Amino acid sequence: MGMLVTTRCTGCGYDRELLSLGAGMGSFRDKCWMPAPCEECRQVVSIDILAPSSSRPGCGNAVASYATRGHRGGALSWRLPSDEVVSVPEFGNRFPACGASLLGFELRGPFD
Ligand SMILES: [Zn+2]
Ligand SMILES: [Zn+2]
Repeated sequence: MGMLVTTRCTGCGYDRELLSLGAGMGSFRDKCWMPAPCEECRQVVSIDILAPSSSRPGCGNAVASYATRGHRGGALSWRLPSDEVVSVPEFGNRFPACGASLLGFELRGPFD
């Protein structure tokens, strides 16, 4: 089961948007959704980090996720089918809308 998170920047007061992290029951073998900053759209988008960068949905920019591989722990971590752990920092992410590194993700619940 994946996770639903809210996106919040304490620098500019942005607070909304449910994003999906991980993947649902039917897709966890080949998908892993993670948030990524798009400097062109100036917003946070969800990308499938297991997909080739050329086939990413949304605006089509090849953005890099906030997620890092190989770091265990934290509420926002996800185990890939390869057993590798991917996690997103809960705080201190750069928010492309205002440029501050004050963006946090808060776990709201599961999604399937
Ligand atoms: Zn901000
Ligand atoms: Zn974009």
